[in-house]
Amino acid sequence: MIRFERQAVHARFRQPTGEAVEAVIEIRVNPITGRTSRIAFSRTGEREAATDSFPDPPPLAGDTVRCPFCSINLSAKTPQLLKTYEASGRLVRDASVLFPNLFPYGAHSAVSLFDDRHFVEIGTASVESYANSFLNCADYLKRVLAQDPAAVYMAITQNHLPSAGGSLLHPHLQIQADRVAANHQRFLQSRAASHFKETGRLLFSDYLQCERQEGKRTIGATGAWEWLAAFAPEGFFEIWGILPGATSLSQVTAGGWAGLAAGVLNAQRYYRSLNRNGYNLGILAVEDGASKLELRIVILARSNYAPWARNDHTGFEVMLGDMATFTAPEDTAAGARPFWRQPESIAD
Ligand SMILES: [Zn+2]
Repeated sequence: MIRFERQAVHARFRQPTGEAVEAVIEIRVNPITGRTSRIAFSRTGEREAATDSFPDPPPLAGDTVRCPFCSINLSAKTPQLLKTYEASGRLVRDASVLFPNLFPYGAHSAVSLFDDRHFVEIGTASVESYANSFLNCADYLKRVLAQDPAAVYMAITQNHLPSAGGSLLHPHLQIQADRVAANHQRFLQSRAASHFKETGRLLFSDYLQCERQEGKRTIGATGAWEWLAAFAPEGFFEIWGILPGATSLSQVTAGGWAGLAAGVLNAQRYYRSLNRNGYNLGILAVEDGASKLELRIVILARSNYAPWARNDHTGFEVMLGDMATFTAPEDTAAGARPFWRQPESIAD
C-alpha cells in the first residue's frame, strides 16, 4: 500500500577533456501523492549563489515606522474581525495578535503575528512565540467553524522572506478556511479516505510506521510530533512533522502546539546551518468531523533572499511538474538529526 519506489536514470556524455561521464539522477515516487520528483546528484556539491555565508539582513529590517504589523501602527493599519468572531476585533494571546488578511485569498483569511519583533532571522524565534501564534490560529479557526460550519478546508502557512513569497518582513502566519477545497486538500482528503476504507487504518500513521521500519529518513520527535525527511521531496531539504492519530486541529493541546513550534524551530536552525534564510511551511486540515486526514506540517527551504540568488523553481519544475533537488533525503535526515537532540527541542 505504501511503497518507497525509486529508480535511477543515467546521463552519459564526455567532459570537455574527453573523459567519459555517467551522471546519476534518481526519480522517486511520493508514496502519498504518486507524484514523481528527481534528485540530481551531480549538483550535490555545487555551491549555490549566496550560500557561502549566511545572508545579510534585508534592507528594510529596521524599518518599523512604515510596518503595519509593528505595534505603533497595528491598531490604525490592520483590519478587525467581525464582532460575531471577537468583540475586540483582534485575537490576542500574549504577544501574538491575529486579525483578518487585508488581501484575502479565500472566504476566511487571517494573519497571526508572533510578537512585536519586526525582523526575526530564521531559527531565532522563541518556541513560546510560535506556540502562541499557532494557538491563536487554532482559536480563530474554531470560531470560523462556529460561524460557517461548511468552511471545513483549513490551512496555516508561512512565507519567510520575499524569496518564499512573503510580502511583509514582519513574521506572521497566514490562516485560511473555505467551503471549497484547494487542490492538495481535495487530493489528501480523498487519499486518506480511500486508504482508511481499504485498510481500516490512518494514512500518515501507516506512512510513519513504514518510515520507522526503514529508519533512514526519521529525524526525531518533539512531544507527540514525529519528524522525517520527505522521501520524494518537492522542495529543498523538505521535512515533514506528523501528529499521528490527530485528524482535527481541535485535538491538538497547548503542549501539542508547543511541540510543533519546537520542531519547526529545529528545522529552521538546520536550514540556518546551511546558510539558508527563506522557507515555507504549511499544515492542512479538513474539519468536517469525518476526515481521515491526519495533521502533517511540511517545511522546506526556499532560494535565499539575497542579490542574484537563483530561484529554486526552474523551467523543469514549472513546465514538467517534477521538482529537482540536489540532496538525498537520507542525507537531509542525517544533517537535521543533531538539531533534534539539543535541549531546546524538548517540548511536552
Ligand atoms: Zn513590523
